[in-house]
Amino acid sequence: MDMEQRGIPTSAKTQAARAVLACAILLLALGGGQLLRRFDQRPGPEPHVHEFLIFNTYARLTFWGAEDAAKAAAGEIAGELKTLEKVINTYDPESEISRLNETAHLEPVPCSERLWGIIDASRQAHELTAGAFDISVGPLMKLWGFYGKRQAMPSEQEIAEARDLVGLHRIAFDREARTVRFERAGMFLDFGGIAKGYALDIGKAIAARHGLTCGMIDLGGNIACLETPPPGKQAYTVGIRNPARTDQVLETAELRGMCIATSGNYERCFLLDGQFIHHIIDPQTGRPVPAMASVSVATPSGLASDIFSTAIFVRGRDMAERYLASEPAARVLMISASPQHPEEMTIERFNWPVPEPRK
Ligand code: AMP
Ligand code: MG
Repeated sequence: MDMEQRGIPTSAKTQAARAVLACAILLLALGGGQLLRRFDQRPGPEPHVHEFLIFNTYARLTFWGAEDAAKAAAGEIAGELKTLEKVINTYDPESEISRLNETAHLEPVPCSERLWGIIDASRQAHELTAGAFDISVGPLMKLWGFYGKRQAMPSEQEIAEARDLVGLHRIAFDREARTVRFERAGMFLDFGGIAKGYALDIGKAIAARHGLTCGMIDLGGNIACLETPPPGKQAYTVGIRNPARTDQVLETAELRGMCIATSGNYERCFLLDGQFIHHIIDPQTGRPVPAMASVSVATPSGLASDIFSTAIFVRGRDMAERYLASEPAARVLMISASPQHPEEMTIERFNWPVPEPRK
């Protein structure tokens, strides 16, 4: 979930929704979640476009094909994702995950099938990334001010205390009974690094069930490009933001049958005591990852694109190489920059084509 969500009453929610919609329209004016750009010059069949708010961001479904199928798929995707959001939204005190987070230190808490599904995927992500991806980072997110503003930098002791509440080894998962139990009070799970990728795969499956093979599912920057390219095109063109100038496209990727996710230090960030704080935390140090600006991963699975963009952001080149060894079809673009000199960027490409020089 890219933008901060807070437990706010319904009247305020309407205002918040309006604000989000306004931001979304602005984003669209800039070109969409990942600055999706359309270069279509030729007239072609118009796609069916459906938009809705989800995960506090703006979703855009674009399908070419039968109108009935596109409408039915879009309705089903929106419904299913909204139901998922109600289950996993840590900023909604009424959600199933919020109730689990509040009580799982007292006793094992049974999970619904939906909640268990994403917990299970997150556990696999933790294993695949040697712990770089960790949904138990909640207490560190809280410490750094992502669940309520803080005024000063956390002390070493506060960081150490929060780190003592993080780690999947401190959580008992009972697969048979589908329960979760925390070792200590204060622990909590945060699905911000996986929710949209997980949701993309749900969206893709629904589209496929409705016979749609041509189109794009954009969940505010996490994008699935379906197998068949748009009419008259070889592929879908997705723009990658310049992390130092986020209203600008740094370069574009040509994709089909792939999902793309970008983890960026510019997504949720602020200054604290004059220091740049952002939302991707290294569970080992307990601090926002220094020097990385953004990581984009394109790969057939929405889930993998999301967990590995986060994990490569945390661990860098080693994790990119490790991932590509297991998934040679994937592409990774890594952009690092020091917070003091954000304009001085180093770009590393793994399987990611070098753009053609502009004529
Ligand atoms: P993404 O934009 O997909 O990289 O996800 C970033 C979000 O994931 C943050 O806003 C947090 O909610 C959460 N998060 C931060 N650090 C981690 C981490 N090391 N592992 C898993 N989730 C994280
Ligand atoms: Mg992610």
